[in-house]
Amino acid sequence: MNKENLSKTEFPVCTTLEKTLNTSTTSKGNAVFKNNNSWITGQTIRIRFVGGSVELQNKIKEYASEWTSAANLNFVYVGTNDESDAAIFFETGSNYTFGRSINFGQLSNPNATDEIIRGITLHEFGHLLGLHHENQSPAANIQWNKPVVYDYYQRVIGWSKEQVDSQIFNALPTSYYNTYTPYDSSSVMTYSFPASFTTNGFSIPFISSLSITDRMFIAKAFPFPVKSKLYAGDRITANNRLTSPNGNYTLYIRSGKLVLYSNVEFRDHGHISPNIKFSNATSSNIYLEIRENVLLLFKGNVSKTVGPNIPVGNIQYINLNDSGNIEAIINGVVVFTINMKTDL
Ligand SMILES: [Zn+2]
Repeated sequence: MNKENLSKTEFPVCTTLEKTLNTSTTSKGNAVFKNNNSWITGQTIRIRFVGGSVELQNKIKEYASEWTSAANLNFVYVGTNDESDAAIFFETGSNYTFGRSINFGQLSNPNATDEIIRGITLHEFGHLLGLHHENQSPAANIQWNKPVVYDYYQRVIGWSKEQVDSQIFNALPTSYYNTYTPYDSSSVMTYSFPASFTTNGFSIPFISSLSITDRMFIAKAFPFPVKSKLYAGDRITANNRLTSPNGNYTLYIRSGKLVLYSNVEFRDHGHISPNIKFSNATSSNIYLEIRENVLLLFKGNVSKTVGPNIPVGNIQYINLNDSGNIEAIINGVVVFTINMKTDL
């Protein structure tokens, strides 16, 4: 490959930099570092945008939610000047230190495709959740062709040799990790690079989706309580979810919709979008709840019946079965079934 033709778009450089290690302060730095990046399972993370078009912001929100389909965390987007836990900037050419800020300067390029936006969004939000570059995992064993890599990042990106070392080559100290997986070359957290960067022809294309390991890792780091039944008095929300006993389906609220998500195919299998019919709602808070003999989807104080009214008695609980269907149960008997893939 002609080095001059390497595309910055095809092999984008991450704007989140690891600290340049200084052995004399490593110990102190790591403690601060870890403390700055620990979210609590179930936490709602308040994020504010500083810049970016509404269209681009909406794409970022949509793609970032792939992380919260797997992790028991919730992203909410607050006003630019509101109190927040994390901030998103769009500064061309700027880099940020690993922490609670993301910079999407690369996405200011009007030629950025949805695939690029998706991949960079998932990658940078991965940093926000505390994930580091996969190529710097202690488990990575990439046979770098170092002169070629130094030349590229120094000449094209403008990094110093030390920056290439700290951002690309050096394995991160194990004190940076609570845990790590075997090296996963399909992780969205790896740098992409051409075969000319290695001595054995190994290369990684631009990655725009979470790998199975990415999803499993973050699900383990921020686990959902596993339950398939919702009883009267409880409610389904963004974070309080039902998962089928075989683990294949999850039912929860995302972006104002009741969503049935396939954990096998990593995509939605059906949803109820109440936005149109809830025009009089006083609140955007959406949840699914059993009220006596009906199942109701609420938006604020306005509700819509999901499934039939049951004349024979109060619904005891609903169950998400292994086929992804919602079963309503009275006295141990299924009184109706909702197939979100076709019924709604
Ligand atoms: Zn990165």
